[in-house]
Amino acid sequence: MTRFQLLGGVLLAMAFFHSSLEAARPTPQRGEAHALWAHPGDAGKSAASVRQFVEQCKRAGIDTIVMLVKGMSGETYWKSRRFPQTAAKGYESFDLLEHLTREAHAQGLMVDAWLCDFVDGQDGAAYREHPEWAQLNPGGGTTATETLGVARRPYPYVWMCPARRPGYTDQWLLPMIEEIATNYQVDNIHHDYVRYPGDVAPDSYCFCDYCLKNIPRFAMLSYDTRITERYRVNAVQEHIEANWWSDPTMLPIDWPQRDRREMADYLLNGRTIPGGPPDARYFFYSYRVHQIDTFAREVWERVQKINKAKGSRIGVSAAVFKNPIMSGRFIGQQWDEWAPWISIFMPMTYRSHFAGSFDAYLDHLTETTARQLEWISREKPLYAGIATTYLFREEWQPVDDIRDRATELKTLEANDASGRASKVKAIRESYDAVRARLKPVAPDRERELSRRIEAISPDATTVALDELLKLIAQLRNDPPPGYLPAEKLTRAIEAARKARPDGIVIFVAGSLTREKLWPTLEAAFRK
Ligand SMILES: [Zn+2]
Repeated sequence: MTRFQLLGGVLLAMAFFHSSLEAARPTPQRGEAHALWAHPGDAGKSAASVRQFVEQCKRAGIDTIVMLVKGMSGETYWKSRRFPQTAAKGYESFDLLEHLTREAHAQGLMVDAWLCDFVDGQDGAAYREHPEWAQLNPGGGTTATETLGVARRPYPYVWMCPARRPGYTDQWLLPMIEEIATNYQVDNIHHDYVRYPGDVAPDSYCFCDYCLKNIPRFAMLSYDTRITERYRVNAVQEHIEANWWSDPTMLPIDWPQRDRREMADYLLNGRTIPGGPPDARYFFYSYRVHQIDTFAREVWERVQKINKAKGSRIGVSAAVFKNPIMSGRFIGQQWDEWAPWISIFMPMTYRSHFAGSFDAYLDHLTETTARQLEWISREKPLYAGIATTYLFREEWQPVDDIRDRATELKTLEANDASGRASKVKAIRESYDAVRARLKPVAPDRERELSRRIEAISPDATTVALDELLKLIAQLRNDPPPGYLPAEKLTRAIEAARKARPDGIVIFVAGSLTREKLWPTLEAAFRK
């Protein structure tokens, strides 16, 4: 045997060893997968429009359409036999999911059924029929009593309690998912809002009656048997918390007399060992993580059961926040533990979830995607999620600022001269940035908008402000070609690719249309 033969034999053995390792792993995707989140409006309401939408996706190199079928207000876009009262307005007789799965499969594309899991609307059917299923804050209010932002915008959604049984999870959401998996040829059930609220008061939910009883029970802060027997901490160790295992009764002695606020205060700020650190919220956080984990597992198990019965291969995909450790703490979404119950992870690594410049985003997108693959040890495929709109922060921010200042100006008193003057100044400053971008690509529209801006003075009439707002809305909905630098999308896709994710998922079809980015996406995905 020559040295080359020997080397060849070693290489062959290494290759064999390598491939047998490979065989133990999940089947790898062929090439880079491409998915797109889409709203019902993108596909229209006829067989022909659905077919056209699928064709458009196919041309752009999309292989999975993630279509919204249960919206933020609980409205649904399939023909539900069990929950006909949830049918979205205008979709009572058009079964979008049925049409889409048929058309997509005919053209070789897959369809994920996207559900906004734990939200319902103030007028949503679930909340209307079962107000007792809603999450409650320490004051006893639902999330619809909260406001958003410094402007205190009303928050129109009611988050439903994931924990309560029987409740929203087992009486409403799980049956909906079972119905879809049973009656439709979807490729995946897609989780969104699979968590507790994040932008409204993350630490305020849920303190409904069920959770007030079950958070202490989950952590076994006291016994259900011999409930009148209380045990004090036996301080044999110098560090007080080192006596935790001596079996003290951790729940405060006056627990049954406490009201909701007092109970919530203990669960967030209390000490399980008197004199020890304020650690009770550890159990609040782990309870929430446990509830969302349980739901993710139940969905997986029920879908597997249906697969077995009908011989299908439906999986489960999920839109998740960018950092599972942070989202575990803030919203109960510790998705790095979910590999057993999720087929494809689609983290929302949108620029809106990152601070800094566009170039900083590109670096952080690569780094974050690499960390995500590390967090889940590549046990399941992960697609990097990119939202187009937020890529254009520099281009859209001044437009939105004009809209917001003009809207505020409408509400200011006529005699508030300095307030009104400062709004006008802010509008003009923002417009300078818009104008510099608009003039070279659409001189006619720039002239028209400039005239409207010049007409705005501290004593501008509502009519003049409305005329300006109309043009601003037009620019937002229909920017002239060239206003948005399309290469930002290409660069973001390339930055995500550096981390070698299993695919790329784009948010969202409507933005691609508005922002005229379909050709850019097609070119980026063809590579
Ligand atoms: Zn609850």
